[in-house]
Amino acid sequence: MDQSKIDALRARPVSPQLHLIDGKQVPTSDGATMDVLSPLDGQVLTTIAKGTTADMESAIASARAAFDDRRWAGQPPAARKKVLLKWADLIESNALELAVLGVRDNGTEIGMAIKAEPGSAAGTIRYYAEALDKVYGEIAPTQSDVLGLIHKEPVGVVGAIIPWNFPLMIGAWKLGPALAMGNSVVLKPAETASLSLMRMVELAHEAGLPSGVLNAVTGEGAVVGEAMGLSMDVDVLVFTGSGGTGRRLMEYSARSNMKRVYLELGGKSPNIIFADAPDLDEAAKVAAHGIFRNAGQVCVAGSRLLIEASIHDEFVAKVAEVAKGMQVGDPLSLKTAIGAVNSDRQLDQNLGFVKTATAEGGQIIMGGNRILRETGGYFMEPTIVTGVTPDATLAQKEVFGPVLAVTAFETEEDAIRIANSTVYGLAGAVWTSNLSRAHRVVRDVRTGVMHVNTYGGADGTVPLGGVGQSGNGHDKSLHALEKYINLKTAWIKL
Ligand code: NAD
Repeated sequence: MDQSKIDALRARPVSPQLHLIDGKQVPTSDGATMDVLSPLDGQVLTTIAKGTTADMESAIASARAAFDDRRWAGQPPAARKKVLLKWADLIESNALELAVLGVRDNGTEIGMAIKAEPGSAAGTIRYYAEALDKVYGEIAPTQSDVLGLIHKEPVGVVGAIIPWNFPLMIGAWKLGPALAMGNSVVLKPAETASLSLMRMVELAHEAGLPSGVLNAVTGEGAVVGEAMGLSMDVDVLVFTGSGGTGRRLMEYSARSNMKRVYLELGGKSPNIIFADAPDLDEAAKVAAHGIFRNAGQVCVAGSRLLIEASIHDEFVAKVAEVAKGMQVGDPLSLKTAIGAVNSDRQLDQNLGFVKTATAEGGQIIMGGNRILRETGGYFMEPTIVTGVTPDATLAQKEVFGPVLAVTAFETEEDAIRIANSTVYGLAGAVWTSNLSRAHRVVRDVRTGVMHVNTYGGADGTVPLGGVGQSGNGHDKSLHALEKYINLKTAWIKL
């Protein structure tokens, strides 16, 4: 990676962002725009169209028309595959531009953004492009005078609502399988991270995706997101974001057409360190990176560190040592390990959690403050709080910031009980040399993903999704296709 290329892209002015409806860039019906504040310096980067209900309805109508005339679903699978593969190539050839634009908008450190954003998004689109002609219908084992066929059909119009932490990666997790199965999509990026995702949508059109098959409307969740949720013409809603919004989407569905709703929500994931972990130095390094990268704005972040009491002090010291070496600062510098917090609102929220944690008896071992104020950007020190009891706010609520809650435990049963003591169930890890214990903990901790002697690793071949209030669907892997398919039975008398 080349710092000078990043710096050249950083200096580029960013044009005002319009909606993308029916293959065209269009302004909001009433002309309104919203300022985009860069978390790097708090300055206005550009504006985005501040969508109205009418804009969302027009995008949905365009997607419905495109689905009904089968301009995408009706194409031969090989033709659809070609478009999606070309799209993946274009994402890859524009990777640096996409990554820098995204960082200026959402604050992720550039090293991580390049890998996790365009790099991952291109891989995801390619994976589903390759999968689309390997999804077969079925013949049921019926009585012999009947042929029972099970067709797999696209569902129709998919509404996809995306958060700000990894817009391209998470966007591709929804767009890849939805488009591969022949659906039309209306996309709603997050207010504070629309720009790179909108550019990725433009690239889909450059790759040959027909107009209307993928529309994108920017603006406030409470306005355009709600209009999508309440639409009678959206068949499936797929969402990544907070539990509060997830709940609303279920209500919107119940109040409108009972559309299917798939939620990927937050977590309070336990990273469990036993004294017999194979390498405590490695465990400490991974624990620090597992909570502090992207300033903790990672849904699967290992935000609760559960440490066997006999090694508690030694292990906390190791994690703090690693964290001290992680440079916080300019997200567009390749030297930076921890970038900016996405917004001043999120930063205030993080600091509020730290205050509450100390009021409830937690001890701050390091961090706890806003830093680099002179830049105007939203930066926070990596923060470690020990003595967090399992019922404390910091152990129960997702911060979505660089704040690690540390709790000591005595026994394996204790560790599992504490790990399971939140409403969430997204991810977790166990570090041990005891194979049987590793399997027991993986089985007994209620999450969608568990790691053993590592944290956070995964690729597109395995599903990601939560249990409990962490969600109800899966992104990634072939399992994700199920969300975008209807099963239809054809019962044929022979
Ligand atoms: P959020 O719920 O506020 O916003 C997410 C999206 O929902 C945005 O596009 C927003 O505009 C939209 N939205 C907001 N209100 C809406 C409404 N009333 N109707 C329809 N749409 C609405 O969440 P956020 O703050 O952007 O993202 C952070 C959250 O996302 C964290 O809780 C994090 O854990 C979670 N997350 C989960 C995963 C996962 O895979 N499970 C991944 C990333 C982030």
